[in-house]
Order: sequence, then structure tokens, then C-alpha cells
Amino acid sequence: MARTRRPLIAGNWKMNGLRADGLALAKGVADGVKQAGWSDRDVLVCPPATLVLAVAEAVKGSGVLVGGENCHAKANGAHTGEIAAEMLHDCGATYVIVGHSERRADCGETDAIVRAKAEAAWRAGLVPIVCIGETLAEREAGKTLSVLETQLKGSVPAGSTAANLVVAYEPVWAIGTGKTPTTPEVAAAHAHIRKVLGGLTGEAAQFRLLYGGSVKGSNAAELLAAGDVDGALVGGASLKADEFLAIAKAA
Ligand code: PGA
Repeated sequence: MARTRRPLIAGNWKMNGLRADGLALAKGVADGVKQAGWSDRDVLVCPPATLVLAVAEAVKGSGVLVGGENCHAKANGAHTGEIAAEMLHDCGATYVIVGHSERRADCGETDAIVRAKAEAAWRAGLVPIVCIGETLAEREAGKTLSVLETQLKGSVPAGSTAANLVVAYEPVWAIGTGKTPTTPEVAAAHAHIRKVLGGLTGEAAQFRLLYGGSVKGSNAAELLAAGDVDGALVGGASLKADEFLAIAKAA
């Protein structure tokens, strides 16, 4: 783990959690983080929108950060069922995931939509975590690095800095499958992402780049040790406080 950048371990709960189990999970994470007393890493939980307010209240004072899983590009208006970045901020969120591959696939989110959502996050005072990643077909065709470059150029807004934006590299084929790229493959992807970000922003060295896709307690140390990896975006394994804390400990 590159210690010049502050690690960020983020949990993406996805569409999981009713009030009782969501609050128990949030309290478990908050208690663990308090007990560990970490001052050298950030731990973030991103619950479903229905739980953002309650989770933010439950983790208050623990140091655990709270984020949304998605936001709309607009601040308000006639968009039934949507949630504005301002609403997440109002509920205590400081981060928001944008462009997760499940949303790109399920909701047709394009790079331009993802970029607009990242800008919406800034408007509301949130830090966007912009997700990119190749499909299995793209990897097998040797297109991984060019796909990542295209996604970055389309999804990362002008004005991005290491302080106001995080990038998560999540190979689509690694999400929820138990499969992960090798450590050198992760390092190669992250090095390329950092290089492209450098061209786009002029300050690549300080950006936090997360790896996501089947991160769990047992493989976290190895994945987090890959070059240019500054943390993890964790799905399934973030739903158990002990396992999520073990990943945070490995950072
Ligand atoms: P996973 O999901 O850890 O369950 O593979 C990661 C993600 O989709 O962010």
C-alpha cells in the first residue's frame, strides 16, 4: 500500500439491508473502527438510500464515513424515484458512488451521465467515487487499458482533484464472482489509471485509486499491496462487520 496516500476502505451495501440489520451492521462497523482507533485510514459505508440518515446517525462520533450508492445529476425536480446528491448530503453523506457497473448495465448509465453525476456530487458538497472497469470480453480481447482510458476520459469531469474525486477500478467480471485479477494485473490497471488521470488533471500522484471486485478478508492484504492501490470498494464482504473490519485492517 502506497502510504503517501490515505487508504480508503468503502463498503457498497447495494440493495441490501432493512432497518434492523442495516443498523446492526453500521453499529458493528462503528464499534470496530472506534476500538481500532485508526487515524491513518478512512472507512466508509454506503448503504441503500433508505438507510443513509439512520446509518449516519448510528455511526456519529465513530469516525466512520457515510456515502450514497448513486445520485441523480439534477438537484431537484420532476424525476420520480430519483435521489439528488443534495438529499444524500442532507442525510449526513459525504461521499457518493457514481457509475457502478451495475448501474451502467441496469440503467444504461453512460460515461457522460456518470460525469454529470460526479459534478452533481460536487455541487452538493460530496466526493464522488467514479467506478470504471472492463468486461470479461474486453479483457480477453486485450482491451482493458483502452477501455479504462475511454471511461476515465468520459466520466471524470474537468476540475477533478485528488481531494474532490476518487476512482474505483472494478473489473465487471470480478464483481460478486469470487474471481479477481492477479496482483500484477491490478497494478497494471491502476498504473494506467494514474497515468491517464495525470494527463487529465495534472496531479495524478495524490489521487486515491480503489480496487473493487470480490475483495474479502482473505485476499485483501494481497490486493491492497498491489502498486497504486489505495483502498478497496467492497460489496458482499461489506455486509459482515467483522469481515469488512478485517479488510480495513489490511489497508
Ligand atoms: P463485490 O462487489 O465485492 O461483491 O464483488 C464489489 C462492488 O460491486 O463494488
